[in-house]
Amino acid sequence: MTYVVTENCIKCKFMDCVEVCPVDCFYVGENFLVIHPDECIDCGVCEPECPAEAIVPDSDDKATPWVEINRDFSTQWPNITRKGEPPADAEEWKDKPDKKALLSPNPGTP
Ligand code: SF4
Ligand code: SF4
Repeated sequence: MTYVVTENCIKCKFMDCVEVCPVDCFYVGENFLVIHPDECIDCGVCEPECPAEAIVPDSDDKATPWVEINRDFSTQWPNITRKGEPPADAEEWKDKPDKKALLSPNPGTP
């Protein structure tokens, strides 16, 4: 089992999660973060830290289809261990539904 980042994170990227992960297994895209499933030790510490409630265990119904998205992008994007500046409009996007089409495949800057 692993934890995965889901749709609510898109364009939000508050990054509170990366600061608490004991194994630094978050990877950053242009407008989304993912967890590397083979590095995550399943501690669950990041889940309550996310203000957007975007992090769920892969056993959660909401995790489909994010399991594959986390696995794919975590091998393509750079590792991130420090909280950066969230986007200026992060609060505005936090509770918006149907953001999946907005997910950028481009790597972000750690
Ligand atoms: S805290 Fe939540 S919304 Fe922010 S970057 Fe992490 S997973 Fe995404
Ligand atoms: S569950 Fe633990 S190891 Fe996995 S991403 Fe969250 S903080 Fe990191």
